[in-house]
Amino acid sequence: MSVLYIVATPIGNLDDISHRAINVLKSVDYIACEDTRTSSKLFNAYQINKLTFSFHQHNEHKKIDHVMNILNANQNIALVSDAGMPGISDPGFLAIRAAHKEGHEVVVIPGPDAATTALVASGLPCDRYMYEGFLPHKKGRQKRLKELADQERTIIFYESPHRVVKILTELCEHFEEERMAAVARELTKKYEEVVRGSLIELKTEFENRDSIKGEIVVVVSGKGYSE
Ligand code: SAM
Repeated sequence: MSVLYIVATPIGNLDDISHRAINVLKSVDYIACEDTRTSSKLFNAYQINKLTFSFHQHNEHKKIDHVMNILNANQNIALVSDAGMPGISDPGFLAIRAAHKEGHEVVVIPGPDAATTALVASGLPCDRYMYEGFLPHKKGRQKRLKELADQERTIIFYESPHRVVKILTELCEHFEEERMAAVARELTKKYEEVVRGSLIELKTEFENRDSIKGEIVVVVSGKGYSE
């Protein structure tokens, strides 16, 4: 029986790859990459020379058959995304489901992800949390925020830098302005920062910046939390 390995890769700092991840990437027959060019930086750094093919949100439905054909031919595949854990706001789920259904083994090689890194860095309760990922850009966005307002667990949102003020403004509207939150930016990278404060303080802080760059996670405490 062949194996589909789901391999977590760094979210910025290439040193965050595990020994086991490197060994697996060196041992498989093929590596399915969200973007082969992006992953080549990691592969070059660790002398990983394997056959790669692209597996991203625009071709994953079509590429499932290719993945299954390889597994059915008794060859092993590793699946990586551009950063972090495949399947977490990234391609992966469809391949994992198909591999399970066809009786192949699925092995996850754990590693970094932006959500739990930001959650722990935020200093907000992390005993119970909810991963929300990206909100819809337009349709359904306000409805979803309204639904989340009563959530008692800490909530984790992924957001692009040019929408961070927008999400903080919306959170101020739908949640209480004084709700504690944190914006984690560029985690594990040179300009890493974690800014904590109430939603209104964070909105003011980011509104007043000349530019906001990099990758961002917004962590918001659950309803009823105070410190
Ligand atoms: N699979 C990834 C994971 O495990 O976290 C997430 C991929 S998703 C397409 C990309 C989003 O993750 C970014 O827009 C940002 O919200 C978040 N992200 C990824 N790397 C980050 C970093 N170094 N610092 C902060 N947020 C990051």
